[in-house]
Amino acid sequence: MPGGVSSPVRAFRAVGGTPRFIVSGEGAWMTDADGNRYLDCLGSWGPLILGHRRPEVVAALSAALAEGTTYGAPTEREVLLAEKVRDFFPAMERLRFVSTGTEATLSAVRLARGATGRELIVKIAGGYHGHGDTLLMEAGSGVATFRSEAGSRGVPQALVELVRNLPFGDVGALERLFVAEGDKIAGFILEPICGNMGVVAPEAAYLQAARLLCSRHGALLIFDEVMTGFRVARGGAQEIYGVKPDLVCLGKILGGGLPAAAYGGRADLMALIAPEGPVYQAGTLSGNPLAMAAGLATLEVLDHERPWGKLGEATAHLADEIRALARRAGVAVTVNAVPGMFTVFFCTGPVTDFASARRSDAGRHGRFFHALLERGVHFPPSRLEAAFLSTAMGAAEYEHLLAALPAALAAAA
Ligand code: PMP
Repeated sequence: MPGGVSSPVRAFRAVGGTPRFIVSGEGAWMTDADGNRYLDCLGSWGPLILGHRRPEVVAALSAALAEGTTYGAPTEREVLLAEKVRDFFPAMERLRFVSTGTEATLSAVRLARGATGRELIVKIAGGYHGHGDTLLMEAGSGVATFRSEAGSRGVPQALVELVRNLPFGDVGALERLFVAEGDKIAGFILEPICGNMGVVAPEAAYLQAARLLCSRHGALLIFDEVMTGFRVARGGAQEIYGVKPDLVCLGKILGGGLPAAAYGGRADLMALIAPEGPVYQAGTLSGNPLAMAAGLATLEVLDHERPWGKLGEATAHLADEIRALARRAGVAVTVNAVPGMFTVFFCTGPVTDFASARRSDAGRHGRFFHALLERGVHFPPSRLEAAFLSTAMGAAEYEHLLAALPAALAAAA
């Protein structure tokens, strides 16, 4: 197994040391093979908003498991989950389930090209949409952690030439691109709140400009809310900012800890997807019964408990605490936070895009990460990622984290 892992950032290459082999999780905690317990601020990179083994999710999974694991035929839970997802995301008039966020974004991009008959795709430098060929150049997350802006070898130059990368939040750059090439642009895909260059929230005006320019030039606006969906608000970033995209990509929380994702949007666009239309997309395990059961149980709990306000307050409070502790430790940090996710950047000045995010010092971050790990807190092992909070975290968990932070920040000084 390259790097000994199934996904690159897990290998700890950016922070040094050996990844912990995890044997179990319970609520906000996970336990490694040596019996050490960690407060889980990794949250499986986003899905676990309810923490590990939430009883309602376990019960739904057990019930589904007793019936069967996969049929390759339609099942009722897909319909129930689709209706639920549309209720959370009204922009998804129709949708299709897939298994990973990568599939959701590459399918949305194909649909944008198929619907418009155009080939150019606009994306954000430092955005990450999975590992599809079209979307890897200047991608964030692990791509930036390991290979800088080179993206990946193996992506054909012909595809690279069909992609335009823009700095996040720069309305002028977006306008200039649309003026120059607007009639060739199939779609603009972005995380409306970035999570993969670390957390970076936009000005509302930026998303509004994106909406306006796409509409004016006949391009599709695609919001990748794989990370922010069901987390930053009930209806994701698009609800917070009041901007309606043409297509939406979801994943992570949608599967409640199992592999499920979806893309969807305007009914006229989704009618172009096979078998109704000429844009092909399929999947052996798409809409898998276990994943549908876990996703449905997760969304039902979220809808019942409506934790977003509380999670938002907890995240903002934690960010304030980290800023104060860092000042006391004499270490310069910029903390960006939105409900349920935050990033501690080891640099001064605001972090508003990929260029400013990458100023975060890797050495300081690595020492911070390991000092936390030694004290029983598992953060993401890269400086360009979001840390995640879950509803399983209560007073004891926040105390544990706050107790570990002074030494971790001192280690980074
Ligand atoms: N889009 C976003 C915004 C993501 O954060 C991710 C994964 N971190 C993906 C797409 C890809 O999802 P997956 O890893 O499930 O393919």
